[in-house]
Amino acid sequence: MPQPAPTAAPIRVTQPDMPPLEDFIPYLERIWASKFLTNGGQFHQQLEQALCDYLGVEHISLFANGTLALMTALQALGIEGEVITTPYSFVATSHALLWNGLQPVFADIDPVTFNLDPARIEAAITPRTTAIMPVHCYGIPCDVEAIERIARKHGLKVIYDAAHAFGVRQNGQSILRHGDLAVLSFHATKVFSTLEGGAIVSRDAATKLHIDRLKNFGIVDEVTVAAAGINAKMNEVSAAFGLLQLAGIDAALERRRAIAAQYRHLLGGVAGITPMPEGGHEPNYGYFAILVDDRYPLGRDGLYQVLRDADIHPRRYFYPLISDFPMYSTLPSAGPDNLPNAAMVARQVLCLPIYPALAADDVVRIADLIARGAKRAST
Ligand SMILES: *Cc1c(COP(=O)(O)O)cnc(C)c1O
Repeated sequence: MPQPAPTAAPIRVTQPDMPPLEDFIPYLERIWASKFLTNGGQFHQQLEQALCDYLGVEHISLFANGTLALMTALQALGIEGEVITTPYSFVATSHALLWNGLQPVFADIDPVTFNLDPARIEAAITPRTTAIMPVHCYGIPCDVEAIERIARKHGLKVIYDAAHAFGVRQNGQSILRHGDLAVLSFHATKVFSTLEGGAIVSRDAATKLHIDRLKNFGIVDEVTVAAAGINAKMNEVSAAFGLLQLAGIDAALERRRAIAAQYRHLLGGVAGITPMPEGGHEPNYGYFAILVDDRYPLGRDGLYQVLRDADIHPRRYFYPLISDFPMYSTLPSAGPDNLPNAAMVARQVLCLPIYPALAADDVVRIADLIARGAKRAST
């Protein structure tokens, strides 16, 4: 991939990796010729297989988006009652629970990995608990072994919201192989995109078949409807876009890796700035989160404003916490006393721009603005 040129346009936290338009036309011509737009067409079938091969998993069901995939995953396993989850995520994680009539029970996170703290999961279990829904936040793997031990001991299902974890590997294996199900998002803002889209990774063919029926109204054949399913199918244009994205994914991840390394190098000595942890897994560099602590004179929101004034738009993922939104804030587990680490991280976090087309010079400019803010202390 050629070095991207610096840009005067606003720099946002992310930007989709667009394949050349002319490369997309032949796919569209085939869709036009086939007149087969959805319901498991040729590109849908090809993308499921290509993703299994690329990710190193056996069974994938494509979805119209990640939220419908989360909702269907809960349906597929017949989850009831209470589900233990993280307040430190995108709001869709908990919304999928509410849309299934389930009660979210928030447990606190580990302040270093940003992921659910297994000890806090175990402490939150009640007789009504049936499942755990953790998130591999920023693609950092959860403590999957501890979570699996707790789930086994208490007879709970585990559904990973793996929306950030496309391509992440640990100990030579896809992180998506953990849990009863793992759910991906292919939204335009994610590392791998199908415009809108998502997927569920299943462990066996029978579960995949069940999920494939659920995403198509529960239809088994012309005269048989076996479950109260929904319409959550991926269309052919999205699947074709996904095949093209997949062809460029290694170059895109390499460019992201270089940007993350550049940020780490440039921000290394800046007091009060702590980049997200690395090591122990093969990341996808989907996010570059930093924590801005009390030593940084401007504070997190001051830095956020300095960057915005320069037309650079980082995001405070995840502030506010899910548990602070009105449909959750009255839950017993939503109180700040229960979630001190999540509250602290939400106050400090800033996700810096990272995407394949971001120029090295722009990374330098962003890091310079951050470093200059740190020096205001001594004046
Ligand atoms: C993006 C995202 C989702 C939702 O996925 P959509 O495809 O946008 O519906 C769910 N959970 C997390 C953690 C996400 O980042």
